[in-house]
Amino acid sequence: MEEFDVCIVGSGAGGGMAAKTLTEAGAKVVLLEAGQDWDAVRDGAMLTWNYESPRRGKSTKDRPFGEFDACIGGWQIPGEPYTTTEGTTWDWWRARMLGGRTHHWGRISLRFGPDDFRRKSIDGKGDDWPITYDDLKPYYDRVDRMIGIFGNADGVYNEPDGIFLPPPKPRCYEQLIKQGAERAGVPVIASRLSILTQPLGGRPACHYCGQCNRGCSTRSNFSSQSVLLPPALETGNLTLVTNAMAREVLTNDKGLASGVSYVDTVTRKEYQVRAKVVVLAASACESARLLLNSVSHRFPNGLANSSDVVGRYLTDSTGGDAMGFFPQRVDQQAHNEDGVGGMHIYIPWWREKDRSLPFSRGYHIEVWGGRGMPGYGFGGGIHRINGKLQGGDRSRGGGGFGAQLKDDYRRTWGSFIGMSGRGEMIARYENRCSIDPDVVDQYGIPVLKFDVSWSDEELLQMKHFHETAHEIIHASGGEPVWDMPTAEDNWGITRPGQIIHEVGTTRMGNDARTSVLNANCQAHDVKNLFVADAGPFVSQAHKNPTWSILALSMRTSEYLIDEMKRGNLS
Ligand SMILES: Cc1cc2nc3c(=O)[nH]c(=O)nc-3n(C[C@H](O)[C@H](O)[C@H](O)COP(=O)(O)OP(=O)(O)OC[C@H]3O[C@@H](n4cnc5c(N)ncnc54)[C@H](O)[C@@H]3O)c2cc1C
Ligand code: SF4
Repeated sequence: MEEFDVCIVGSGAGGGMAAKTLTEAGAKVVLLEAGQDWDAVRDGAMLTWNYESPRRGKSTKDRPFGEFDACIGGWQIPGEPYTTTEGTTWDWWRARMLGGRTHHWGRISLRFGPDDFRRKSIDGKGDDWPITYDDLKPYYDRVDRMIGIFGNADGVYNEPDGIFLPPPKPRCYEQLIKQGAERAGVPVIASRLSILTQPLGGRPACHYCGQCNRGCSTRSNFSSQSVLLPPALETGNLTLVTNAMAREVLTNDKGLASGVSYVDTVTRKEYQVRAKVVVLAASACESARLLLNSVSHRFPNGLANSSDVVGRYLTDSTGGDAMGFFPQRVDQQAHNEDGVGGMHIYIPWWREKDRSLPFSRGYHIEVWGGRGMPGYGFGGGIHRINGKLQGGDRSRGGGGFGAQLKDDYRRTWGSFIGMSGRGEMIARYENRCSIDPDVVDQYGIPVLKFDVSWSDEELLQMKHFHETAHEIIHASGGEPVWDMPTAEDNWGITRPGQIIHEVGTTRMGNDARTSVLNANCQAHDVKNLFVADAGPFVSQAHKNPTWSILALSMRTSEYLIDEMKRGNLS
């Protein structure tokens, strides 16, 4: 059987970057991807009208984010369950497609700041990373140049500037929020998204169709499939196997990884690939699951798990949403609000040095709204604002039909603006995923059981977000549509997992008793085993994780190549 230099599991952000870096360095790589082949240029639904669908673009069971959303997968995948400990919840979004979740992600591309790597030193909670911002900065810089990101160098504390392409201007509704936020003492800067505003590396600039979540047919935004895998394939060093669900990492009698066994999801046949090194990039929880399922007499607690830390310290971002109705936007003259498929402005955490708050970690605010292409259910139910409009017969209450309904929709289109708080959750030992001993998936592979809950730190942080968002809405001349949440409804915090920023399940550290990986994302227990997704994160930061996954994966892959050349991995 052919032996590859490296077997990578997963083709999302982490796996794609590992494939590019390793193959360009000359390694013979096999990449196993559980999902089907999917190509943004060939399969994306860019420039499709919602009315071309019988459901008018409404979400379906298979496409919860809208019918044309570029994701095969979702909150539930038939035949691939997961469970939760009684009294807890966990929402787990998985993609089963080449490129993983990077086709329909939001492309908010934020660096962690220097303080994010040393939180314990600052507030005594959680842990410090074994690396610093300076260790990762050169890789962030190279990711910026390679993939392309727009933004503005604002010099905000702990929100490092990158190598930015010019940002698009704020749209009208974003200007409104910017002015209101600044009146409320909250700073607003240009957003930082991995979308090209100038051509880069043979990819054209964005033409502002605003449909990034459908996959970009001109490859003007970032997905692993459209930006990282093509150069990897061009080297001739990459063997790509789709529909390949990895079951476990195989080991030899020296206790080293020797390959991966997988199930062909179409034929249901079992196969094995042999490799000198294994890189797990199946996403934080799937990689933990693979390790926990790789049980042998030498590794009875799962592979690389002598510390019993695999699956622990799992975090997700906190989340809260607020929406305002802005009467000044009713009856607005039609105007161009085209732009990228995401926000043009961003509210970074502005109280980083304030120690008087009743919670320890910060959040940022994402802004949404505008006059994007309307689809089924847009506006969330016009009847809710009937009383706020003037003229016509408003006596009939909710719903309505005919000419007045159409008129109401036209008049109010774009007069709702929302804000989402996304904050840092503190990593705790007891928040974890582990193997459910009683449940297997359709391939006979034991599934994960989640046991995660928020602490007061996260709840009070989201209380603060809602208070701030209401203040900004009022200061911008709007009225909140939803009531201020209360302690009884946990200050409106989302369910754990719902923000889809799960990290920390195979954390790195200098002490093999309390971490799974060393500072190079190499398993303490198995020197030829690496993790290249968000599993190695020691803490979350309030920042969306993918830019850090990419930078870390590049760093890990280059270390791997050096060690392989030195003969240190066999
Ligand atoms: C709607 C949405 C919006 C988001 N917005 C943002 C954002 O704005 N900014 C940000 O930073 N992040 C965002 N994220 C999160 C971002 O998508 C993830 O952080 C990122 O994709 C993780 O990369 P990954 O390589 O770890 O995993 P993934 O992208 O999930 O890729 C993992 C791949 O591994 C495959 N796989 C899993 N198990 C196996 C197995 N056993 N065998 C073989 N293959 C396997 C999967 O099929 C998948 O293709 C968003 C996510 C979603 C869903
Ligand atoms: S908004 Fe730009 S990057 Fe996004 S799908 Fe359209 S052209 Fe592509």
